[in-house]
Amino acid sequence: MLLQIGKTINRSCFPVTIRSIQRRDSGQGPVRLLMRCLILVVPILLSILCTNCRMTQKTETLPPATQQDSKGNDALAIHRRAIAIDMHADTPQRLLDERVDLSQRLPDGHFDSPRAREGGLDAQFFSIWVEPELFGDGGPRAMKRADDQIAAVKALTEKHPETWQLATTAADIRRITAEEKLAALTGLEGGYAIDEKLENVERYYRMGVRYMSPAWSVSTSWAGSSGDEVGSTRGLNDFGKQVIREMNRLGMMVDVSHVSDPTFWDIVNTSTKPVIATHSGCRAIANVPRNLTDDMIRALAKTGGVVNVIFYPEHLEPGWSEKKKQVDAEIAPMVQRASEAEKGDVVHKRMARDAVRREEYAKRLPPVTVSRLVDHIDHVVKLVGIDHVGIGSDFDGVQSTLKDLSDVSQLPNLTRELLRRGYSESDIDKILGGNMLRVMDQVQKH
Ligand SMILES: [Zn+2]
Repeated sequence: MLLQIGKTINRSCFPVTIRSIQRRDSGQGPVRLLMRCLILVVPILLSILCTNCRMTQKTETLPPATQQDSKGNDALAIHRRAIAIDMHADTPQRLLDERVDLSQRLPDGHFDSPRAREGGLDAQFFSIWVEPELFGDGGPRAMKRADDQIAAVKALTEKHPETWQLATTAADIRRITAEEKLAALTGLEGGYAIDEKLENVERYYRMGVRYMSPAWSVSTSWAGSSGDEVGSTRGLNDFGKQVIREMNRLGMMVDVSHVSDPTFWDIVNTSTKPVIATHSGCRAIANVPRNLTDDMIRALAKTGGVVNVIFYPEHLEPGWSEKKKQVDAEIAPMVQRASEAEKGDVVHKRMARDAVRREEYAKRLPPVTVSRLVDHIDHVVKLVGIDHVGIGSDFDGVQSTLKDLSDVSQLPNLTRELLRRGYSESDIDKILGGNMLRVMDQVQKH
């Protein structure tokens, strides 16, 4: 905006004013007197205003948000033209437990409507997460926890129809984006909420859920997790395979983020539809069990699926996870004290623990930038091409963020880095959301 004003001032600088004075001078006496005064005054005015012109020109040399790169690409314009879909944010827990009003710019967290608008986001998959420690082992409590979060997302769209609309298909996302609104979608993180009943997969599909990961950090009886001991040997059992086939039948995407290696291989060998990872990184760069090996990325791409790269430093930066473990040990007594001091329920105790972690990680762990995130995107592209990579932030689900992508408003920094690395506009369209639109269309087809 400043840049545009600067350009306008330059175009209308003094030549125009002088021309208009000359037109008015028809050589008459009083006019001649006026002109004499002007001859004295105009140079002074000219010097003052030209100084201003130089100042506005100076502002053009600063790097504004819309600055073009050496090939004439405007990162912000490219970013805004693309349909940007974030495959994973944990904001529903905040909606439920903290009753946050997303229509306001929040002083904390990573996500709200004003910041999503600012960041050029078009569609958000809200993660419906049932924490096993609190609501685990399935049963009515787990289902209620999932149902309440889905209802909270629906309420958001009903309370703010000027900003949000519920979506379940790629066509919905395209239509809502064209109306300049934000699309809200949901995915189940961990299969706890289906309560080991096949019919519940369809129940959640009917409630609008469009992806599910069989396990979060704790294994289910039917699917191993990358986060616990038993997961290292547990894949999908027969029921687990039935769940995948049911998801295929309904048109619900299968998410491999968090599952164990045996579960991953069972999923890609069972699914007849493209398989996705909603928020994962590459194990070749950051060696954590949550990330995908090169063989896994190749196999997932073979299904036609997409690896949506997470923004969380622990899964992006080599060695960060080990450092975090050290810090976790150091701060354990502080975390424990915060939990004990919180007199609320288990959810609020967890929130108190997370608040301490957030603060201490920021102080004690090295900063990581968006450049490292793009290293992971580059890696997937080198392995399997541009059609199998996307983005899944994990905003509001992590206690540490990238330094220059610390909330959804900073999403254009990703596009700037992609441009800097030589990605074209059509590549960037695919990464930001185009690839996921393709998968959603394919999975929905019967
Ligand atoms: Zn997760």
